[in-house]
Amino acid sequence: MKYISTRGGMAPQSFSDILLEGLAPDGGLTVPETIPQVSAETREQWRGLGYAELAAEILSLFIDDIPREDLRRLTAAAYNTEVFPGPQMVPLKPLKGGMSLLGLSEGPTLAFKDMAMQFLGQIFEYVLEKRGTTLNILGATSGDTGSAAEYAMRGKRGVSVFMLSPQGRMSAFQRAQMYSLQDENIHNIAVAGVFDDCQDIVKALAGDLEFKSAYRLGAVNSINWARIAAQVVYYFWGWLRATDQSGPQQVSFCVPSGNFGNILAGHIAREMGLPIRRLVLATNENNVLEEFFRTGVYRPRSAAQTHATSSPSMDISKASNFERFVFDLLGRDPQRLANVWKKLDSAGYFDLSELKPDFEGRYGFVSGTSSHADRLATIRKVKEESGVLIDPHTADGVKVAETYVEPGVPMLVLETALPAKFAETIVEAIGEEPPVPAHLGDLASLPQRVVNLDCDVEQVREYIRKHAPVQGAAAS
Ligand SMILES: *Cc1c(COP(=O)(O)O)cnc(C)c1O
Repeated sequence: MKYISTRGGMAPQSFSDILLEGLAPDGGLTVPETIPQVSAETREQWRGLGYAELAAEILSLFIDDIPREDLRRLTAAAYNTEVFPGPQMVPLKPLKGGMSLLGLSEGPTLAFKDMAMQFLGQIFEYVLEKRGTTLNILGATSGDTGSAAEYAMRGKRGVSVFMLSPQGRMSAFQRAQMYSLQDENIHNIAVAGVFDDCQDIVKALAGDLEFKSAYRLGAVNSINWARIAAQVVYYFWGWLRATDQSGPQQVSFCVPSGNFGNILAGHIAREMGLPIRRLVLATNENNVLEEFFRTGVYRPRSAAQTHATSSPSMDISKASNFERFVFDLLGRDPQRLANVWKKLDSAGYFDLSELKPDFEGRYGFVSGTSSHADRLATIRKVKEESGVLIDPHTADGVKVAETYVEPGVPMLVLETALPAKFAETIVEAIGEEPPVPAHLGDLASLPQRVVNLDCDVEQVREYIRKHAPVQGAAAS
């Protein structure tokens, strides 16, 4: 299995070669040269597997330069009840109206990003050790991604994390979650500014190629292919739990979407042969993706046109993984893809409305949006009808999924976070605080470890200089 760039300008590379890189050298995204196929027979053989075993089977289709035994060890370390402490690692929770939740938020940061990030932590450590090198992950977060990355990388040899967050702009829960980590390789840096300031500092440092290479800076952003591959696993898992050998074989999935990473994995699973009837894409008020699936026009927004909503992890202006789907939509033709992106860069949009029949007909995609009022009403309704408390992002999913439920086709809504993370909106919806999972009960009282810096690139640069491990030392 080799990887290529969506824009055609990269010689085929192995998985381990693309693992630690961001964009392909030509500015495109890396994708597998061909999509591996899974037969109905193989699928049935997978029914009895536990989550970690299933993950090893599926990931081995994308990763052929790491021995199968090692891969099994890595998935066993990522997916176990110590990391995902619920009664079931990825439970299916039935709701009224033909829907179920696929519980992806049982991990350390109570959001689905843990599912992929925990595997990433294991495989980063493994590949860095094999190559005798180290990596300093530099990132900016407004909450979710940063904490998932820190919990995945904590204590891992060869990896340090420098995570910038905006001073005083995260919830008390998010601060406690990130800043209570005492691991030496995790560095929380609170910057006196907003999230965009943090991101600008990251861009400035990562854009300084000399500094970047001297300090081996890397990222764990949502375009990382290993994250997508790890997410494919739970579509198979959900399908296997929602069907049996004798019953209906088709399942639909609804995915609360932002950067198109989560639902892209569903698209890959479907292309691998998993009988997915529909992939329902749900957005909040920032509906750039819903607009594309409705009209065929993709028009990213400016920061000023991007709303701050009560499902903040879906507040995106452009969808960083979308290029991978468009690559398939254009018949995996890198020249056509490159032309479309040229148009996007020059005109600010592209129009693929001539391909609209394929969106649903060939790829199963449909879409819908949800508003703040919808979110509140859905949280209330699901609680009353099914006794399940859902978070605002999952509520966007349930709201949109309802319109696409069909008799005899289970509709699985991906639960992208637990309500405990978004107490304010839950209180607005039901007038009560959401319960905090037992294992996090004392989080608020733990000592916090964070440095406060000015909104200044040079201060952050100096901090990394002082605290980045010397090459080679961390691998011992
Ligand atoms: C990241 C995130 C999303 C959006 O997922 P994408 O892969 O960016 O589409 C939705 N909900 C929650 C809670 C998230 O953290």
